[in-house]
Amino acid sequence: MFVIFVLTKYEQFEKTYKMKHIDSFETNLDNSLKQISSFLKQYSKFVIIIHQNPDGDAIGSATALANLLQQLEKSVTIMVDNQLPDNLKFLKGFEEIIVYSSNPAPEIIREAEVILIMDLNDSNRMSSIEQEYLESKAIKMLIDHHINPKLEVEVMAVDTDATSTGELTWKLLRDNFRHYINKEIAESCYVAIMTDTGNFRYDRTDIEIFRIAAEIISYGADPVKLYNDVYNTFSIKAAKLLGKALAGIETHYDDRMCVMTVSKNDYRNYSCTNDDTEGFVDYTLMLDGVTVGILIKEDLEKDIIKISLRSKGEYHVRELGVHFNGGGHKHASGARVEAGNLEEVKSELIRLAGEMIFRDL
Ligand code: 5GP
Ligand code: MN
Repeated sequence: MFVIFVLTKYEQFEKTYKMKHIDSFETNLDNSLKQISSFLKQYSKFVIIIHQNPDGDAIGSATALANLLQQLEKSVTIMVDNQLPDNLKFLKGFEEIIVYSSNPAPEIIREAEVILIMDLNDSNRMSSIEQEYLESKAIKMLIDHHINPKLEVEVMAVDTDATSTGELTWKLLRDNFRHYINKEIAESCYVAIMTDTGNFRYDRTDIEIFRIAAEIISYGADPVKLYNDVYNTFSIKAAKLLGKALAGIETHYDDRMCVMTVSKNDYRNYSCTNDDTEGFVDYTLMLDGVTVGILIKEDLEKDIIKISLRSKGEYHVRELGVHFNGGGHKHASGARVEAGNLEEVKSELIRLAGEMIFRDL
């Protein structure tokens, strides 16, 4: 066995990441993607695992790759812990995704020759699939853009400078399987990149990603249609819940920080589900002067608090996510607190964010 790493800025990653069978160390993304492509050609039974509460990047990347594997006449199953966002239903391959917590399929994992993990870097984000994944003897490969992967895999293509897993998936397909790219693959990759860049406005939105978007559009992805399909699908009940959440926002530290909360009761009062708060956290950063934006919400069914963190400029919210055993990126991170109390989590976050804001002043 061998391991291929790709990292860009995070040299400490080499030291901190403990792996068992490191025969080679690779710092070239193209070489790692080439290695992944040769495994895709060589083997025939694949499972793709994405993170719980999957977003456009996870679903877009996975459906694009599954489309390729089907064309190569391989067996492929995409698996995810829990429910899927309805607004991505139109993507080719979406309907075949297995929701593991309601429909476990351990035998498919046991039979897999290769497990491809996309858009996550810690097996606990697989939730109900994690145990079966850990026990699997399949070859494990990772394509991702999060900092500090904690997964033990045979091959990884991790680029922490990439906007999205969709960008890496596109490079894999473009450079190794060009003739297999079709309109559906282009749409999946476009949606992955569009959603993880907040429609080309978060940082890392640069010349290269616009060039990639242009390439993808040349394969038939329609940016106007895809924007409409993904974003202009807000329901009236979700809009009213947003109104309640916005009316209740708090600001702290001379309005540098904004906190929004959504409780179980809020969901119930507006007949909403967990999915309906998608995108709410973005509103906290829209306020003039706010540099740290936080959304804290109770899960409607489970005894879990979900935290979403966003920042601008120098503020590094990943450390706040990590404090609650979560993770993510510098400007967008998150965590889940089991059996937490919303008010307690809120006070703790306000305190921690205050320390960060005043430390950096
Ligand atoms: P969101 O706030 O949209 O749920 O998540 C923002 C980012 O934070 C995600 O892209 C993901 O990288 C990270 N993230 C969110 N929740 C978790 C979590 O529970 N654990 C970890 N490790 N990362 C998370
Ligand atoms: Mn992503």
